[in-house]
Amino acid sequence: MAWAMIKNEGKLTMSRDRFGRNINYLRISLTDKCNLRCVYCMPEAMTFRPRHELLQKEEFARLVRIFAELGFTKFRLTGGEPTIHPDFMEIVRQIAATPGVEKVAMTTNGLRLEEQARELVAAGMRRVNVSIDTLDPEKFHKLTRWGKVEDVWRGIHAAEAAGLEVKLNAVVVRNYNDKEDVVDLARLTLYQPWQVRFIEMMPFGDVADFQQAGIVPEEELRQTIAAALGPLGVVDNGRLDGEARLYKLADAPGTIGFISSVTQPFCADCNRARLTADGRLRLCLLREKEVNLMDPLRGGATDEELKEIIEEGIWHKPWGHQLDQHIIPLNRVMSEIGG
Ligand code: SAM
Ligand code: SF4
Repeated sequence: MAWAMIKNEGKLTMSRDRFGRNINYLRISLTDKCNLRCVYCMPEAMTFRPRHELLQKEEFARLVRIFAELGFTKFRLTGGEPTIHPDFMEIVRQIAATPGVEKVAMTTNGLRLEEQARELVAAGMRRVNVSIDTLDPEKFHKLTRWGKVEDVWRGIHAAEAAGLEVKLNAVVVRNYNDKEDVVDLARLTLYQPWQVRFIEMMPFGDVADFQQAGIVPEEELRQTIAAALGPLGVVDNGRLDGEARLYKLADAPGTIGFISSVTQPFCADCNRARLTADGRLRLCLLREKEVNLMDPLRGGATDEELKEIIEEGIWHKPWGHQLDQHIIPLNRVMSEIGG
């Protein structure tokens, strides 16, 4: 097999796929569970997997070590809500202390940041992306089904005070937060050196009809912001910062990012793979293809055997999504993959 040939030639110091992309960024869904039920993420009556079906902290530690030995350097914890995992802090410590790991980050709804921020920094976390889709308490409650925006806001400030680099994420949903809420969030960049990123809603599983009906394309968002706050200047000639294309309002200390996987896919620059809480290697967020790592892990596979399975999976990573051909991933919703 081609991937094995590359390995045998001694060239595999990094995990490459068959399109030549260097895959060195692993997003780990620590748990499928969450303390919110955002309308764009999961159905209200979502059910979760029993604990024994999910990776335990020792299993996460072993897999992270193996991925790091395969050349992965950046790790992001997500979920569900990573901060509610019973071993969350211990897992952060383990990952940060793993040789080869250069960056440990997290995506969170921010509800537990106020109590956890300082300990997180001590554990080795450096960056957090906090989801906040609107500053309006009522709309926030409606979007998250029961969240309080004040809790998230306090979490953001606690994270900053603790020395974490903070970015804000907002998923935009038509008729929920697509007008003044977007402007209010963008306006924050006039006063704070923050990166505020607007995410196009993506379709998954049972929630796909709602998601497709409610998507607001980046272009419309840029027009809404520019009409209210003035022209948006392109930052860094439009080069991607992670998955976001950045813009700036005149004289703003902060930046406005757009993550537009649906209308402007960035598959050519993709460097990521995902590990689900039930131990599947998900090769593309928006494709169903997964590799089962849980069974070999619990079935006694050696490190070398697990590496071979991972390498082969990475080699066969799909080029990208097929939303333009109306092919939607149906086997999981977003909270089970981690974004
Ligand atoms: N619970 C954490 C949070 O909300 O930040 C982490 C998990 S959440 C699944 C990761 C990211 O995915 C969040 O920024 C969330 O807003 C985003 N997200 C959820 N559903 C989405 C969808 N259908 N399309 C695009 N982004 C989505
Ligand atoms: Fe939970 Fe995050 Fe999904 Fe909201 S987006 S339901 S906070 S996992």
